[in-house]
Amino acid sequence: MKYISTRGNIQPVGFKEAVMMGLATDGGLLLPERIPAIDAATLSSWRQLPYRELAFRIISLFADDIPANDLKRLIDSSYDSFDHKEITPVVKENGVYIAELFHGPTLAFKDVALQFLGNLFEYLLKESGQKMNIVGATSGDTGSAAIYGVRGKENINIFILHPHGKTSPIQARQMTTVLDANVHNIAVKGTFDDCQNIVKELFNDLTFKEKYALGAVNSINWARVLAQVVYYFYAWFRVSDEVDSPITFSVPTGNFGDIFAGFVAKRMGLPIDKLLLATNENNILTRFINEGDYSIGSVVQTVSPSMDIQVASNFERYLYYLFDENPARVRDIFTRFAATGRMDFTDEEMRTVRREFASRSVNEQETLDTIAAFHQETGYLLDPHTAVGVKAALACVTDGTAVCLATAHPAKFGEAVEKATGTAPPFPACLAGIEQLPTRCEIMEANRTAIEKFIAEKAR
Ligand SMILES: *Cc1c(COP(=O)(O)O)cnc(C)c1O
Repeated sequence: MKYISTRGNIQPVGFKEAVMMGLATDGGLLLPERIPAIDAATLSSWRQLPYRELAFRIISLFADDIPANDLKRLIDSSYDSFDHKEITPVVKENGVYIAELFHGPTLAFKDVALQFLGNLFEYLLKESGQKMNIVGATSGDTGSAAIYGVRGKENINIFILHPHGKTSPIQARQMTTVLDANVHNIAVKGTFDDCQNIVKELFNDLTFKEKYALGAVNSINWARVLAQVVYYFYAWFRVSDEVDSPITFSVPTGNFGDIFAGFVAKRMGLPIDKLLLATNENNILTRFINEGDYSIGSVVQTVSPSMDIQVASNFERYLYYLFDENPARVRDIFTRFAATGRMDFTDEEMRTVRREFASRSVNEQETLDTIAAFHQETGYLLDPHTAVGVKAALACVTDGTAVCLATAHPAKFGEAVEKATGTAPPFPACLAGIEQLPTRCEIMEANRTAIEKFIAEKAR
């Protein structure tokens, strides 16, 4: 399988090279040259497979330059760190199916992809004899999932910048209690934007980037999308065992990575009726789907902070397919978007969009009310991101069956859950005692030169 760029200006590369490249060198995003089609016979032969085996069948279609035994081992060990034997179990509450994606070590769905990506990086670096220094900024979830993905791994250092005192206390502790020698937390005296700007400047300094082999783990890496395709199949099998009606997935969306994985699954032939794109008050993607209006607003803070995003980086991947795989159209729309801050679509394109997607924006009060009502009726606690998806499903899926992706464990966002229900969610075992554990973290000014010097000293 070869990989091409949405902007059309790179020579096709294999899977391994695509993983190491991250962002395509022409500024686009990498995509497989063609999406493999799964016929009905293959689909039914996959129905009973355990999660790891299913993951191997799907991932090997896209990663054919890794020997099968090696790939199997990488996948198996990626999911050993999950605390549920089904990896992503599906539960049913009040007629709503919930695919729990939060059984990984940091209690958010990002573990599903980042456990795999960490193992993949280690494997590829060992093979090529190279080293990598991962540098990233986080407002919470991505940082801890990335750290848990690569802690203790050979040939990799990770440097994660977070705004000092501005993440939730649990989120900060999930990062700073990891004491492996290759993990470096930097608490920046500033905002998330300060952190992100410093990281961008480091990557833009090509001499520094080359010298220290900087690597990224943000959601534009194809391997992350790929690992997420698996749970759409897994959940679809569980639910279609029980119902005959069309199945819609409701996906709490920020960067469009998770829902794009659903789009890939649908395009492979998984019979998904609609993908329901659920947003919080940062609703640019809902305006796009429902009104054809894609124009940036300013980011507002909500109780579902991992979705407080305006420009979704993976959206470009979808546009490539919407434009019939024509990279010239992708280049053109991004050039005009850079100048005007908006994108325009034809009526026919919007009809195509609405055949695949529905969308609902869910405000703060609705989110808290959904957590409260769901808890009262079923005893089941939703985290605020999942609640956005559940509310969207209750409002929009009138005929057919909804599967809501549960993207985080409620204990990770205990404050919002307590605000909604009056009681804080109990801590799961993996967080027990986290407040007493020793931590290691460098507190630094929001000063690029100082941070660059720190990274240079620690980088192997
Ligand atoms: C990252 C994240 C999201 C958004 O996922 P995208 O792939 O960025 O759309 C939703 N919920 C939680 C809990 C997250 O951590």
